[in-house]
Amino acid sequence: MRLDTDPYLSRYAERVQGMSASAIRALFALTARPEIVSFAGGNPAVEALDLEAAEAVAAAVVRESGAVALQYGIGQGRPELREQLVDVMAHEHVPAHVDDLVVTAGGQQALELIAKCFVDPGDVVIAEGPTYVGGISALASHQAEVRHVPMDAEGMQVDALEDLLLRLSQEQRRVKLLYTIPNHQNPGGVSLSLERRQRLAELAERHDLLILEDNPYGLLDFAGRIQPSIRQLVPDRVVYVGTVSKTFAPGVRTGWIAAPHPIRDKLVLLREAADLCPATLTQMIVERWLATQPWREQVKRFRGVYQEKAEAMLGALAATMPDGITWTRPSGAFYVWMTVPAGVDTSDLLAKAINHRVAYVPGRGFYADGSGGDQLRLCFSQPSVERIEEGVERLGELLTTELDL
Ligand code: PMP
Repeated sequence: MRLDTDPYLSRYAERVQGMSASAIRALFALTARPEIVSFAGGNPAVEALDLEAAEAVAAAVVRESGAVALQYGIGQGRPELREQLVDVMAHEHVPAHVDDLVVTAGGQQALELIAKCFVDPGDVVIAEGPTYVGGISALASHQAEVRHVPMDAEGMQVDALEDLLLRLSQEQRRVKLLYTIPNHQNPGGVSLSLERRQRLAELAERHDLLILEDNPYGLLDFAGRIQPSIRQLVPDRVVYVGTVSKTFAPGVRTGWIAAPHPIRDKLVLLREAADLCPATLTQMIVERWLATQPWREQVKRFRGVYQEKAEAMLGALAATMPDGITWTRPSGAFYVWMTVPAGVDTSDLLAKAINHRVAYVPGRGFYADGSGGDQLRLCFSQPSVERIEEGVERLGELLTTELDL
């Protein structure tokens, strides 16, 4: 149904009026065709999991605790699961107590609840540019004005952040939140350096900032390196979001928020209004998985899988891309961010790429301000090494032809 012929248009709340599916979404439907190498979706390689163990865990939950697992639970989430999640956080050296956590339906619901908790229409939220599409959607659905800070190989440019904060304070605009993905950023494929983490923490103190720290990829550093979280540096100024989607499985839709207690209390009320409580059945599956399975070993295996794929992609890019194209070199997780010469529009190019049997995500969706037309995201987490090499070669051929024109 086209928006301008939607007979319900006048009834929608203002925040929904501007929402529409992008034309690009229709093209994505095509990327599922087997002949197309898709670097589009950011899906983890769940096939690398021990699926028999997952089956046994799920069956044991129903067999041994069915009456609890099939019942409502509490809004904050099961304390037994929160205990396990505190352990996961400890593995990343992120300090937390079981009372600090609210279990959510994935990191995405966490972002939506946090946006709902803090953002009034027109409020300023600062985010990296580019940033996670789902983060922009959550903020946009509460009519935030997202202002971007550029990134380089060391993550968010903290000098540019400081300039933006000064400009906003001159305009007497209060910043409600600063949204950051410090580790192996989606889509940028870079991490915030240690020095910049420290400067960000200082700026948060100086400018009275509340930071939304989104950390789905921290455990997927190829070398197993762990950087201090922002929560570790300024705990009272951080609302931290975690998820098991990339270290276990996204299908269980389990994430969490760690927040100062006054904020936690508001978030529990908001989540009760949204969906009463997290699904007890999946909470118990995740809890049992974490308690009984060698998940730390599993995470190491995931790292190995993704590192091999990253190396294949970076090798193929170096071998096939024409001059004038640049890209980031990830040291963890799933993404390479590419910049093409100005004049090539990656949204327009996608249909041609699909004809060339390769797909990516055009850059514009990762910005709230319409920039990113000369950028694109490549995700290497799903295709095999051979398919990655084939796909990059196809993209290289296409870009070479385009740039020759
Ligand atoms: N934040 C970021 C940066 C992500 O990349 C994703 C998923 N791709 C999420 C949050 C949400 O993930 P989930 O809801 O599966 O936890």
